[in-house]
Amino acid sequence: MASRPPALLDGFGRAARKLRVSVTDRCDLRCVYCMPERPVWLPRAELLSYEELARLAAVAASRGVTQVRVTGGEPLIRRDVHRFVALLKAVPGLAEVAMTTNGTRLAAQAAALKAAGLDRVTVSLDSLDAGTYRAMARVDGLSDTLAGLDAAEAAGFGPIKVNCVVMRGVNDSQVADLAAWGRRTGRELRFIEFMPLEGDAIWDRSLMVPASEIAAAVIARFAAVERPGAAHSTSVSYDYADGRGSFAVIAPVTRAFCADCDRVRVTADGTFRTCLFAERGADLRGPLRAGAGDAELALIMADAVSRKGPGHLIGLPGFHRPDRAMNAIGG
Ligand code: SAM
Ligand code: SF4
Repeated sequence: MASRPPALLDGFGRAARKLRVSVTDRCDLRCVYCMPERPVWLPRAELLSYEELARLAAVAASRGVTQVRVTGGEPLIRRDVHRFVALLKAVPGLAEVAMTTNGTRLAAQAAALKAAGLDRVTVSLDSLDAGTYRAMARVDGLSDTLAGLDAAEAAGFGPIKVNCVVMRGVNDSQVADLAAWGRRTGRELRFIEFMPLEGDAIWDRSLMVPASEIAAAVIARFAAVERPGAAHSTSVSYDYADGRGSFAVIAPVTRAFCADCDRVRVTADGTFRTCLFAERGADLRGPLRAGAGDAELALIMADAVSRKGPGHLIGLPGFHRPDRAMNAIGG
């Protein structure tokens, strides 16, 4: 019997199991914590086709990756992204295909995504107040995102997780209201600490609200108990004491989960990144378009993973920003 190819293993014993694939760096929103106000897009010729991206996902799956999350930029602004979902669903070894979206175009696409086999969708929403939404996204989109959430549920996605980046002095006073809305609608809020990945370099520790403070704000309104941690989980979940669901906090800054990290990323232009904060990535597009076989592509991935560092250094003197903003990496 042929032996299984080795997993993508780093020097700290972590195996890559989850892959995020960015299909575009473009977006219809301009979130202040992500996109530069005046973005310079990746050249279109450098973007990989869905077939090319699916091939890279298949190579990663042949080396032990079991979950793919489609992201961006905004994945729903790339044409017919449901076609990419269908390609991923045909990849042997992938147990789950999920997507993270800002939801503004979800109402029109939820049914097609469901039909293509998308397993889960996470929607990002930072505020239920139209003015705050606009202040953070620099575009009016609240009603579209809310319509997208409803449509996704009507199409059979659910329960839906809602990502919310918390910024001091912007939406931090709304955390408990968002949690209340989540309890009412059956959506799990996942509050995220603001990370220094934004295009306009505005990050400052004072703008970041620690996860402990976020959790305390929710618990002050609704009693909740921390759930024992799941391995490789990036979040800490809290179950409401009255049984009406849960919320989670994601603390990349104050409670880094690097020691358990099982993620790798492929950007829309085909660079392979082993950490959100990697200063640069390994090029897969060049070899792919030059005719490299699967074994050669797997070797590039394996080599990059073998050199993965122990963790990021946010807030410490050795920290350097990556060479691109979040929208061009794939969050
Ligand atoms: N456009 C889609 C969306 O917003 O859901 C997918 C891409 S976005 C980069 C993925 C996730 O990263 C979103 O939930 C977003 O809120 C989060 N994100 C972006 N920049 C971030 C930052 N600087 N710190 C923390 N989370 C961030
Ligand atoms: Fe666009 Fe998502 Fe970045 Fe906001 S977080 S600018 S929606 S890619």
